[in-house]
Parts: sequence; C-alpha cells; structure tokens
Amino acid sequence: MKAITVEPKKPGTARYEDIPEPDKQDGSVLVEAVAVGVCGTDVEIVEGKYGWAPPGKTRLVLGHESLGRVIDPGPAAGLKKGDLVVGIVRRPDPVPCPNCAVGEWDMCRNGQYTERGIKQIDGYMSERWRIEPEYAMKVDPTLGMLGVLLEPTTVVVKAWEMVLAVGQRSFWEPKNVLVTGAGPIGLLAAGIGVQRGMEVHVLDRVTSGPKVDLVKMVGATYHSTNVANLDFEPDIIIECTGVGQVIAESIQKVGSGGIVCLTGVGKGGAAVGAAIADVAASAVLRNNVIVGSVNANKRHWYKATEALARANRSVLERMITRCEKPENFKHALERQPDDIKVVIQFSKV
Ligand SMILES: [Zn+2]
Repeated sequence: MKAITVEPKKPGTARYEDIPEPDKQDGSVLVEAVAVGVCGTDVEIVEGKYGWAPPGKTRLVLGHESLGRVIDPGPAAGLKKGDLVVGIVRRPDPVPCPNCAVGEWDMCRNGQYTERGIKQIDGYMSERWRIEPEYAMKVDPTLGMLGVLLEPTTVVVKAWEMVLAVGQRSFWEPKNVLVTGAGPIGLLAAGIGVQRGMEVHVLDRVTSGPKVDLVKMVGATYHSTNVANLDFEPDIIIECTGVGQVIAESIQKVGSGGIVCLTGVGKGGAAVGAAIADVAASAVLRNNVIVGSVNANKRHWYKATEALARANRSVLERMITRCEKPENFKHALERQPDDIKVVIQFSKV
C-alpha cells in the first residue's frame, strides 16, 4: 500500500512510497484512510526539525489528524464495518508515570509517551492503518469529511477544560473571551465559547478573507488589531498564535481574576520591554493565572466528538480550505495565504 513517510530529523527525506500492509500487532481494527489533516507539526517533521521513527526503523509514517472508515472491526464490540473513526494520537508511557497510569497521557510527567505520526509510532497517512479498539473514536456519520477536524477539536476541548478548572478556585462569572489567532484551533475555540453562551472575540492579523468571514459565521466579533489596543479586558484569553508579542500583551490585557490559556507553540521572538517581575506583579495583584495546555486524553476526545457534532456545519465545511491528493503531499504542506485547514484525501468519504 502507499504511504507518506519521512526519515525524522533529516530534511528532504519525505516521500510517497509503497510500504507493507499494517501489522496486526498495531491493533485488531483495520481502517481504510479517508483523509488526514496537516498542521505545523507535520511541516516541522518534514523539515527535519522534529519527530522520531519507531524503534528499529529509520522511517516514520506521517500524519496524526486522521479520519478513516472501518474495513474490519475484528472482535471489537461497538465498531462495525463502514463506521467513520478517528485514531487517538498519544499513547501512555510504558513506565507508566502516575498521570499515564490513570489515563491522563496528555499530562505525562516523564515525556516517555509515544504519538502516532510524531513520536515512535507510525501515523495515519497510509492507505490502510490498524488501531487498538480503545483508541478508535467513532464520529457522527453525518459529519463525513468534517470528522477530520476531531483531533484539533480535542486540543481545544482540553484547553477549555483547563480554563474552567482554574476558574473554580473562586466565585467566577466569565462573560467574554478573547481568542488570539483565527486558524483551526482559534476558530474551534471560538465556536466552543459561543456554544457556552459567552461573548467571543477573535483577533488575527488579516483584514479580509475566509478567517474574517468564519469568525462572523461562528457568532464572534473579529478584531485585526494588537491585543494591547482592545477596548475591553477579557475574562479569558485563549492564546493560539505562539507569537511572543501576542502572548506578552495577552498576559497584560487579561482582566482581574482572569485566565490566559496558552495553546500556541512558538519560539524566540523579540522582547517587548515587559520585565518578568513586572508581568509577575501584575498577575499577583490581579489574581491572574497563566495555564499551558497541550494534547488531550480520552475524556477530551469523547467530549470533542459531541462538540464537533453540535458545531455549525457550514463553518466546519469552510474551515477545510484545500483537499490535496497524497501524491501532492508536498504541496499540501506549503502554506498559502488563505489556508485554514488543509487535508490530504486518501479516499472518498
Ligand atoms: Zn506518562
């Protein structure tokens, strides 16, 4: 069968090639790939900056935002031929650490977790893949291709859970939320904010195009200014850009008793003149919390299937801005100005 593979940490090694059929040891459920979303992590792996091949191998099958159709459910109860499923990405570490031991692999303490398509387990960019039944999430069949948005939704569901968990420390009636970045994560975070009945604001750099339209369709207010220039203090900020200046301004802008949830992974960036003790003093004097959030465990995956099924379908449809064939994967990984979510389509839904 065909697959998109890469030799991790070696740029220029990605190719669409023949590999053996999936090993039965990978799981009792056999799935035909429908589509796989691409994100910044895939770009980093192909550029040789990230990623680990499975033990004893040199190449890794790419892809972690999956959608597939069950060909053979094996002995798994609850799955049948034709079901649309998405594969959970992370697996607990083998030690395991206390968090992995209780099923919170998203909170892994020792970093020895593995991830399909990223860290030591083959991903989902192959014509067929196998999975353990407990890691296959069934999606609402009426979502069709939109099921490929489940993995990014899990990240957002966890981030919201973190915010609400922190909020329980005191009496708290959050009314408005600012989401920085109108990419897939930002738009999904905004959608969940609207589902929760909040006044949602989304900030990005562009002044026109699909991102602006989608923010309005979600039921949120769009801003193309700096966080510092906003004329209100958000109760919650969900930061989805990873850009240093946006993060620094968010920490200074959030209202008293507010929560800043960081989901973007960036690097470097110019210092913006805010000395760390001044930032800390502002957080102390206003009881603010800055919380980081990554990945998702099975509870978040389950909640995400519900959130995605409830989401505005026309918004989800317009979030998928390009479908590329597997042989054109390099083109899929090249960022274009109006891209929101690009998917590689392996078969018809
Ligand atoms: Zn662990």
